[in-house]
Amino acid sequence: MDFKISRSSRQCSVCSRRFDDGEKFHVGLMSRPREDGVFDRVDICRSCWDRQGPGNVAAHWVSQFSREKKHAIFDPDFLWSVFHKCRPGAEAEAAASVQELSAADRARFAYVAALGLVRMKQLKSKNTRRTARGEFMMLETSGRREKDRQRFEILSVAMTDDEMQAIQDRLAELA
Ligand SMILES: [Zn+2]
Repeated sequence: MDFKISRSSRQCSVCSRRFDDGEKFHVGLMSRPREDGVFDRVDICRSCWDRQGPGNVAAHWVSQFSREKKHAIFDPDFLWSVFHKCRPGAEAEAAASVQELSAADRARFAYVAALGLVRMKQLKSKNTRRTARGEFMMLETSGRREKDRQRFEILSVAMTDDEMQAIQDRLAELA
């Protein structure tokens, strides 16, 4: 199973400037025209992003460059890649690698990734919505301006602490 989106290139894809430790920048995922579920990652510094905006990226988020390697569950880039591959309506849903997972497992991975991203303040939990299928969390990415933000709905999956731990362990193995 391939959950990986290439790691940060350590520099801006547009102006080639190297990121400083701790610098915030934008990550965009661009799907390839003839390959479903295959993404190319672009890292864009703030000034280039301000100049050109999201363009035709399928998904984007704000990341922070760090020289340290983080454990999967504390690595926002990794959680984002899981989130974007497992959430409902994911652009990658056609990817064979993700279809190997049951719909229930995809929902669990998306939920656990979302909780991690909320904990790291990458996503904000705005609200919840009850439906016949269960309770959905309404989430929003951070971003200074409206056009920098994206909204998502994720099913709140009822899990015991042990089940939650098991999903986190499986995630760590995928990293
Ligand atoms: Zn740049």
